[in-house]
Amino acid sequence: MDEIIRERPKLLTPGPTPVPLPIRRVALEEPIFHRSKDFAEIFLRCRQNLAKLFQTKNLPLILTSSGTGALESAVVNFTNPGDEVSIVVGGKFGERWQKLNASYQCVSDSIKVDEGSHVTVEQVDASLRKHNSPKVLFIQASETSTGIYHPIEQICDHVRRNFKDVIIVVDAVSAICAHDIKMDAWGIDVLISGSQKGFGVPPGLAFIAVSDRCWNQYSERPKFYFDLKNETKGQDDGVSAWTTATTLVQQLDLALTSLAAKGPEELASDHARMSQAARSAFQAAGIELFAKESPSHALTSFIPPKECDATTMQKHLRDHYRFQIAGGQGGLKGKILRLAHLGFFDDFDLITALTAIEKTLMDHKYSYDHGVIISTALKKLSL
Ligand SMILES: *Cc1c(COP(=O)(O)O)cnc(C)c1O
Repeated sequence: MDEIIRERPKLLTPGPTPVPLPIRRVALEEPIFHRSKDFAEIFLRCRQNLAKLFQTKNLPLILTSSGTGALESAVVNFTNPGDEVSIVVGGKFGERWQKLNASYQCVSDSIKVDEGSHVTVEQVDASLRKHNSPKVLFIQASETSTGIYHPIEQICDHVRRNFKDVIIVVDAVSAICAHDIKMDAWGIDVLISGSQKGFGVPPGLAFIAVSDRCWNQYSERPKFYFDLKNETKGQDDGVSAWTTATTLVQQLDLALTSLAAKGPEELASDHARMSQAARSAFQAAGIELFAKESPSHALTSFIPPKECDATTMQKHLRDHYRFQIAGGQGGLKGKILRLAHLGFFDDFDLITALTAIEKTLMDHKYSYDHGVIISTALKKLSL
Protein backbone atom coordinates (compact mmCIF):
# COMPACT_ATOMS: atom_id res chain seq x y z
CA MET A 1 0.00 0.00 0.00
CA ASP A 2 1.03 3.61 -0.56
CA GLU A 3 3.47 4.69 2.19
CA ILE A 4 1.70 8.00 2.69
CA ILE A 5 -1.78 6.71 3.39
CA ARG A 6 -0.76 3.55 5.21
CA GLU A 7 -2.36 3.24 8.61
CA ARG A 8 -0.34 2.60 11.74
CA PRO A 9 0.26 -1.06 12.58
CA LYS A 10 -2.67 -2.70 14.39
CA LEU A 11 -1.98 -3.10 18.06
CA LEU A 12 -1.72 -6.61 19.47
CA THR A 13 0.13 -5.27 22.51
CA PRO A 14 -0.97 -5.49 26.16
CA GLY A 15 -1.03 -1.71 26.38
CA PRO A 16 -1.67 0.40 24.53
CA THR A 17 -4.63 -1.58 23.23
CA PRO A 18 -6.65 -0.56 20.15
CA VAL A 19 -8.73 2.61 20.58
CA PRO A 20 -12.03 2.44 18.65
CA LEU A 21 -12.64 5.31 16.22
CA PRO A 22 -15.55 6.88 18.17
CA ILE A 23 -13.25 7.11 21.21
CA ARG A 24 -10.43 8.57 19.12
CA ARG A 25 -12.79 11.18 17.69
CA VAL A 26 -13.53 12.58 21.14
CA ALA A 27 -9.97 13.91 21.18
CA LEU A 28 -10.67 16.25 18.25
CA GLU A 29 -12.89 18.54 20.30
CA GLU A 30 -11.83 21.68 22.14
CA PRO A 31 -10.74 20.79 25.68
CA ILE A 32 -13.34 21.31 28.40
CA PHE A 33 -12.66 23.39 31.55
CA HIS A 34 -11.73 20.96 34.32
CA ARG A 35 -13.48 22.98 37.03
CA SER A 36 -16.80 23.28 35.18
CA LYS A 37 -20.04 21.62 36.23
CA ASP A 38 -20.28 19.80 32.91
CA PHE A 39 -16.90 18.23 33.44
CA ALA A 40 -17.61 17.28 37.07
CA GLU A 41 -20.62 15.36 35.82
CA ILE A 42 -18.50 13.42 33.31
CA PHE A 43 -15.82 12.77 35.92
CA LEU A 44 -18.30 11.40 38.45
CA ARG A 45 -19.98 9.23 35.86
CA CYS A 46 -16.56 7.74 35.06
CA ARG A 47 -15.93 6.99 38.73
CA GLN A 48 -19.33 5.32 39.05
CA ASN A 49 -18.83 3.17 35.98
CA LEU A 50 -15.31 2.28 37.11
CA ALA A 51 -16.82 1.09 40.41
CA LYS A 52 -19.02 -1.33 38.46
CA LEU A 53 -16.00 -2.86 36.75
CA PHE A 54 -13.93 -2.91 39.95
CA GLN A 55 -16.98 -4.40 41.72
CA THR A 56 -16.70 -2.11 44.71
CA LYS A 57 -18.92 0.36 46.52
CA ASN A 58 -15.98 2.76 47.01
CA LEU A 59 -15.63 4.90 43.90
CA PRO A 60 -12.16 4.51 42.32
CA LEU A 61 -10.00 7.64 42.12
CA ILE A 62 -8.81 8.77 38.69
CA LEU A 63 -5.16 9.86 38.60
CA THR A 64 -3.36 11.59 35.75
CA SER A 65 -0.39 9.26 35.39
CA SER A 66 0.44 5.92 33.88
CA GLY A 67 -0.40 2.82 35.92
CA THR A 68 2.89 3.03 37.80
CA GLY A 69 1.79 6.34 39.35
CA ALA A 70 -1.12 4.54 40.99
CA LEU A 71 1.21 1.73 42.14
CA GLU A 72 3.46 4.35 43.72
CA SER A 73 0.49 6.10 45.34
CA ALA A 74 -0.50 2.82 47.03
CA VAL A 75 2.95 2.52 48.60
CA VAL A 76 3.09 6.20 49.56
CA ASN A 77 -0.37 6.36 51.12
CA PHE A 78 -0.61 3.03 52.89
CA THR A 79 2.88 2.12 54.12
CA ASN A 80 5.30 3.71 56.57
CA PRO A 81 9.10 3.34 56.51
CA GLY A 82 10.10 0.02 58.08
CA ASP A 83 6.77 -1.71 57.39
CA GLU A 84 7.05 -5.42 56.72
CA VAL A 85 5.58 -6.34 53.36
CA SER A 86 5.41 -9.41 51.12
CA ILE A 87 5.71 -9.10 47.35
CA VAL A 88 4.84 -11.67 44.68
CA VAL A 89 7.61 -11.57 42.08
CA GLY A 90 7.18 -13.66 38.94
CA GLY A 91 8.05 -11.07 36.32
CA LYS A 92 8.62 -7.42 35.50
CA PHE A 93 5.62 -6.09 37.41
CA GLY A 94 6.50 -7.96 40.57
CA GLU A 95 9.95 -6.41 40.27
CA ARG A 96 8.29 -3.01 40.02
CA TRP A 97 6.63 -3.52 43.42
CA GLN A 98 10.06 -4.52 44.79
CA LYS A 99 11.70 -1.35 43.48
CA LEU A 100 8.89 0.88 44.73
CA ASN A 101 8.97 -0.66 48.19
CA ALA A 102 12.74 -0.37 48.33
CA SER A 103 12.51 3.32 47.35
CA TYR A 104 10.11 3.90 50.23
CA GLN A 105 12.12 1.92 52.81
CA CYS A 106 9.71 -0.92 53.39
CA VAL A 107 11.17 -4.20 54.61
CA SER A 108 10.12 -6.66 51.97
CA ASP A 109 10.08 -10.41 51.57
CA SER A 110 9.90 -11.42 47.92
CA ILE A 111 7.84 -14.45 47.02
CA LYS A 112 9.80 -15.71 44.02
CA VAL A 113 7.76 -17.42 41.36
CA ASP A 114 9.26 -19.01 38.23
CA GLU A 115 8.49 -16.89 35.19
CA GLY A 116 5.50 -18.45 33.48
CA SER A 117 4.15 -19.95 36.72
CA HIS A 118 1.66 -18.58 39.22
CA VAL A 119 2.08 -18.11 42.94
CA THR A 120 0.42 -20.55 45.36
CA VAL A 121 -1.55 -19.85 48.52
CA GLU A 122 1.10 -21.78 50.47
CA GLN A 123 3.89 -19.53 49.22
CA VAL A 124 1.97 -16.41 50.21
CA ASP A 125 1.18 -17.89 53.62
CA ALA A 126 4.82 -18.81 54.26
CA SER A 127 6.02 -15.33 53.35
CA LEU A 128 3.52 -13.51 55.55
CA ARG A 129 4.48 -15.80 58.45
CA LYS A 130 8.14 -14.77 58.16
CA HIS A 131 7.28 -11.26 59.36
CA ASN A 132 6.71 -10.19 62.97
CA SER A 133 3.86 -8.00 61.94
CA PRO A 134 3.04 -8.28 58.24
CA LYS A 135 1.46 -5.11 56.94
CA VAL A 136 0.88 -5.45 53.18
CA LEU A 137 0.75 -8.09 50.46
CA PHE A 138 1.60 -6.70 47.01
CA ILE A 139 0.58 -8.86 44.07
CA GLN A 140 -0.32 -8.63 40.39
CA ALA A 141 -3.55 -10.12 39.05
CA SER A 142 -2.32 -10.59 35.50
CA GLU A 143 1.52 -10.53 35.32
CA THR A 144 1.66 -8.98 31.86
CA SER A 145 5.34 -9.72 31.31
CA THR A 146 4.81 -13.50 31.39
CA GLY A 147 1.10 -13.88 30.65
CA ILE A 148 0.00 -15.61 33.83
CA TYR A 149 -2.89 -14.91 36.19
CA HIS A 150 -2.29 -15.32 39.91
CA PRO A 151 -5.14 -17.03 41.81
CA ILE A 152 -6.34 -13.79 43.43
CA GLU A 153 -9.62 -15.13 44.77
CA GLN A 154 -8.02 -18.04 46.64
CA ILE A 155 -5.21 -15.86 47.96
CA CYS A 156 -7.62 -13.20 49.21
CA ASP A 157 -9.74 -15.87 50.84
CA HIS A 158 -6.74 -17.28 52.70
CA VAL A 159 -5.30 -13.91 53.73
CA ARG A 160 -8.65 -12.56 54.91
CA ARG A 161 -9.19 -15.64 57.10
CA ASN A 162 -5.67 -15.91 58.50
CA PHE A 163 -4.14 -12.42 58.42
CA LYS A 164 -7.11 -10.20 58.79
CA ASP A 165 -5.21 -6.93 59.18
CA VAL A 166 -2.93 -7.42 56.18
CA ILE A 167 -3.66 -4.97 53.39
CA ILE A 168 -4.03 -6.72 50.03
CA VAL A 169 -2.85 -4.50 47.16
CA VAL A 170 -3.60 -5.88 43.70
CA ASP A 171 -2.00 -4.52 40.54
CA ALA A 172 -4.81 -5.36 38.14
CA VAL A 173 -3.63 -2.92 35.50
CA SER A 174 -3.97 -5.46 32.69
CA ALA A 175 -6.58 -7.64 34.42
CA ILE A 176 -9.64 -5.41 34.81
CA CYS A 177 -12.12 -6.17 32.00
CA ALA A 178 -10.27 -9.39 31.12
CA HIS A 179 -10.95 -11.08 34.47
CA ASP A 180 -13.92 -11.00 36.82
CA ILE A 181 -12.32 -9.47 39.93
CA LYS A 182 -14.69 -8.86 42.82
CA MET A 183 -12.94 -6.27 44.95
CA ASP A 184 -15.40 -6.05 47.85
CA ALA A 185 -16.58 -9.65 47.86
CA TRP A 186 -13.02 -11.00 47.91
CA GLY A 187 -11.72 -8.47 50.43
CA ILE A 188 -9.18 -6.68 48.23
CA ASP A 189 -8.00 -3.42 49.83
CA VAL A 190 -6.41 -1.61 46.92
CA LEU A 191 -7.20 -2.36 43.28
CA ILE A 192 -5.40 -0.59 40.47
CA SER A 193 -5.78 -0.29 36.70
CA GLY A 194 -4.88 2.03 33.81
CA SER A 195 -6.53 3.57 30.75
CA GLN A 196 -4.38 1.98 28.03
CA LYS A 197 -5.16 -1.63 28.97
CA GLY A 198 -8.69 -3.07 29.19
CA PHE A 199 -10.37 0.30 28.70
CA GLY A 200 -9.32 1.06 25.13
CA VAL A 201 -8.29 4.64 25.96
CA PRO A 202 -4.82 6.06 25.18
CA PRO A 203 -2.20 5.98 27.97
CA GLY A 204 -2.30 8.64 30.69
CA LEU A 205 -4.90 7.78 33.32
CA ALA A 206 -4.64 5.41 36.27
CA PHE A 207 -7.43 4.19 38.53
CA ILE A 208 -7.18 3.18 42.17
CA ALA A 209 -9.91 1.98 44.50
CA VAL A 210 -9.35 1.79 48.27
CA SER A 211 -11.29 -0.19 50.89
CA ASP A 212 -12.60 1.35 54.14
CA ARG A 213 -10.26 -0.88 56.15
CA CYS A 214 -7.31 0.46 54.18
CA TRP A 215 -8.16 4.11 54.81
CA ASN A 216 -7.59 3.37 58.52
CA GLN A 217 -3.97 2.62 57.59
CA TYR A 218 -3.41 5.98 55.88
CA SER A 219 0.31 6.69 56.30
CA GLU A 220 2.15 9.54 57.93
CA ARG A 221 4.59 9.88 55.07
CA PRO A 222 5.04 13.27 53.45
CA LYS A 223 3.12 13.27 50.17
CA PHE A 224 1.83 15.76 47.69
CA TYR A 225 0.78 14.97 44.09
CA PHE A 226 -0.35 11.46 45.01
CA ASP A 227 -2.01 12.33 48.34
CA LEU A 228 -5.07 10.12 47.95
CA LYS A 229 -6.91 11.61 50.93
CA ASN A 230 -6.61 15.04 49.38
CA GLU A 231 -7.75 13.61 46.03
CA THR A 232 -10.79 11.99 47.58
CA LYS A 233 -12.06 15.28 48.99
CA GLY A 234 -12.35 16.91 45.59
CA GLN A 235 -13.09 13.83 43.51
CA ASP A 236 -16.20 13.11 45.54
CA ASP A 237 -17.57 16.26 43.88
CA GLY A 238 -16.09 15.38 40.50
CA VAL A 239 -13.08 17.69 40.81
CA SER A 240 -9.50 16.40 40.80
CA ALA A 241 -6.85 18.08 42.95
CA TRP A 242 -4.71 18.96 39.93
CA THR A 243 -5.62 19.55 36.31
CA THR A 244 -6.67 16.15 35.05
CA ALA A 245 -6.19 14.94 31.47
CA THR A 246 -9.68 16.14 30.53
CA THR A 247 -9.61 14.76 26.99
CA LEU A 248 -8.65 11.31 28.22
CA VAL A 249 -11.42 11.48 30.83
CA GLN A 250 -13.95 12.28 28.10
CA GLN A 251 -12.63 9.37 26.06
CA LEU A 252 -12.84 7.17 29.14
CA ASP A 253 -16.45 8.23 29.68
CA LEU A 254 -17.41 6.89 26.26
CA ALA A 255 -15.43 3.69 26.72
CA LEU A 256 -16.92 3.06 30.15
CA THR A 257 -20.47 3.61 28.99
CA SER A 258 -19.97 0.68 26.66
CA LEU A 259 -17.95 -1.49 29.07
CA ALA A 260 -20.20 -0.97 32.08
CA ALA A 261 -23.28 -1.79 30.00
CA LYS A 262 -21.73 -5.17 29.28
CA GLY A 263 -20.65 -5.68 32.86
CA PRO A 264 -17.61 -7.43 34.34
CA GLU A 265 -18.88 -11.02 34.01
CA GLU A 266 -19.63 -10.82 30.31
CA LEU A 267 -16.41 -8.91 29.59
CA ALA A 268 -14.43 -11.57 31.43
CA SER A 269 -16.12 -14.42 29.59
CA ASP A 270 -15.43 -12.74 26.22
CA HIS A 271 -11.77 -12.44 27.13
CA ALA A 272 -11.63 -15.99 28.47
CA ARG A 273 -13.05 -17.29 25.19
CA MET A 274 -10.50 -15.41 23.08
CA SER A 275 -7.68 -16.52 25.33
CA GLN A 276 -8.77 -20.18 25.16
CA ALA A 277 -9.03 -19.96 21.37
CA ALA A 278 -5.57 -18.42 21.01
CA ARG A 279 -3.97 -21.06 23.22
CA SER A 280 -5.63 -23.97 21.44
CA ALA A 281 -4.70 -22.50 18.07
CA PHE A 282 -0.98 -22.25 18.91
CA GLN A 283 -0.92 -25.72 20.40
CA ALA A 284 -2.59 -27.19 17.32
CA ALA A 285 0.37 -25.93 15.29
CA GLY A 286 2.89 -27.35 17.75
CA ILE A 287 3.79 -23.96 19.18
CA GLU A 288 4.68 -23.99 22.84
CA LEU A 289 2.78 -21.79 25.27
CA PHE A 290 4.86 -19.93 27.85
CA ALA A 291 2.23 -19.63 30.59
CA LYS A 292 0.92 -23.17 30.73
CA GLU A 293 -1.16 -23.03 33.89
CA SER A 294 -3.47 -20.24 34.95
CA PRO A 295 -2.98 -18.12 31.84
CA SER A 296 -4.10 -14.50 31.82
CA HIS A 297 -7.17 -13.77 29.70
CA ALA A 298 -5.58 -10.49 28.62
CA LEU A 299 -2.77 -11.98 26.56
CA THR A 300 -1.27 -15.23 25.30
CA SER A 301 2.48 -15.65 25.63
CA PHE A 302 4.12 -18.22 23.40
CA ILE A 303 7.53 -19.45 22.31
CA PRO A 304 7.89 -19.05 18.53
CA PRO A 305 9.59 -21.96 16.71
CA LYS A 306 13.25 -21.74 15.71
CA GLU A 307 12.34 -21.49 12.00
CA CYS A 308 10.69 -18.18 12.81
CA ASP A 309 12.05 -16.98 16.12
CA ALA A 310 10.63 -14.21 18.29
CA THR A 311 12.67 -11.39 16.77
CA THR A 312 12.00 -12.55 13.21
CA MET A 313 8.28 -13.03 13.77
CA GLN A 314 7.85 -9.68 15.48
CA LYS A 315 9.64 -7.83 12.70
CA HIS A 316 7.91 -9.73 9.88
CA LEU A 317 4.46 -9.12 11.39
CA ARG A 318 5.21 -5.45 11.57
CA ASP A 319 6.97 -4.88 8.28
CA HIS A 320 4.85 -7.16 6.08
CA TYR A 321 1.43 -7.33 7.67
CA ARG A 322 1.27 -4.18 9.81
CA PHE A 323 0.67 -5.83 13.18
CA GLN A 324 2.51 -4.77 16.30
CA ILE A 325 2.98 -7.69 18.69
CA ALA A 326 4.88 -7.43 21.99
CA GLY A 327 8.16 -9.23 22.66
CA GLY A 328 9.47 -10.50 25.97
CA GLN A 329 10.90 -8.13 28.56
CA GLY A 330 14.16 -8.49 30.50
CA GLY A 331 15.44 -12.07 30.38
CA LEU A 332 12.55 -13.11 28.13
CA LYS A 333 13.57 -10.73 25.35
CA GLY A 334 13.95 -12.67 22.11
CA LYS A 335 12.43 -15.80 23.71
CA ILE A 336 8.70 -15.20 23.84
CA LEU A 337 6.06 -13.12 22.10
CA ARG A 338 2.95 -11.77 23.75
CA LEU A 339 -0.28 -11.57 21.78
CA ALA A 340 -2.80 -9.38 23.60
CA HIS A 341 -6.55 -9.80 23.18
CA LEU A 342 -7.55 -7.10 25.57
CA GLY A 343 -10.06 -4.27 25.66
CA PHE A 344 -11.97 -3.44 22.51
CA PHE A 345 -10.74 -6.55 20.75
CA ASP A 346 -13.18 -9.10 19.40
CA ASP A 347 -13.26 -12.56 17.85
CA PHE A 348 -12.61 -11.21 14.37
CA ASP A 349 -9.67 -9.13 15.55
CA LEU A 350 -8.23 -12.31 17.00
CA ILE A 351 -8.82 -14.28 13.80
CA THR A 352 -7.19 -11.51 11.77
CA ALA A 353 -4.16 -11.45 14.06
CA LEU A 354 -3.82 -15.23 13.95
CA THR A 355 -4.07 -15.16 10.15
CA ALA A 356 -1.10 -12.80 10.03
CA ILE A 357 0.78 -15.11 12.39
CA GLU A 358 -0.06 -18.14 10.21
CA LYS A 359 1.11 -16.33 7.11
CA THR A 360 4.33 -15.36 8.87
CA LEU A 361 4.99 -18.98 9.86
CA MET A 362 4.36 -20.12 6.28
CA ASP A 363 6.61 -17.39 4.89
CA HIS A 364 9.39 -18.84 7.06
CA LYS A 365 8.71 -22.45 6.03
CA TYR A 366 7.72 -23.57 9.49
CA SER A 367 6.43 -27.08 8.97
CA TYR A 368 2.94 -27.69 10.33
CA ASP A 369 -0.60 -28.38 9.15
CA HIS A 370 -1.29 -25.14 7.24
CA GLY A 371 -4.55 -23.51 8.26
CA VAL A 372 -4.82 -25.34 11.57
CA ILE A 373 -4.30 -22.19 13.63
CA ILE A 374 -7.27 -20.40 12.13
CA SER A 375 -9.53 -23.42 11.97
CA THR A 376 -8.82 -24.31 15.59
CA ALA A 377 -9.44 -20.76 16.74
CA LEU A 378 -12.70 -20.55 14.77
CA LYS A 379 -13.95 -23.78 16.28
CA LYS A 380 -13.07 -22.68 19.81
CA LEU A 381 -14.66 -19.28 19.35
CA SER A 382 -17.87 -20.92 18.20
CA LEU A 383 -18.27 -23.16 21.25
C1 LIG B 1 0.95 -1.92 32.07
C2 LIG B 1 1.07 -2.41 33.45
C3 LIG B 1 1.40 -1.55 34.51
C4 LIG B 1 1.57 -0.07 34.38
O1 LIG B 1 2.54 0.33 33.57
P1 LIG B 1 2.61 1.85 33.10
O2 LIG B 1 3.59 1.77 31.99
O3 LIG B 1 3.07 2.65 34.23
O4 LIG B 1 1.21 2.22 32.66
C5 LIG B 1 1.49 -2.08 35.79
N1 LIG B 1 1.26 -3.37 36.01
C6 LIG B 1 0.92 -4.22 35.03
C7 LIG B 1 0.65 -5.65 35.38
C8 LIG B 1 0.81 -3.77 33.71
O5 LIG B 1 0.45 -4.62 32.74
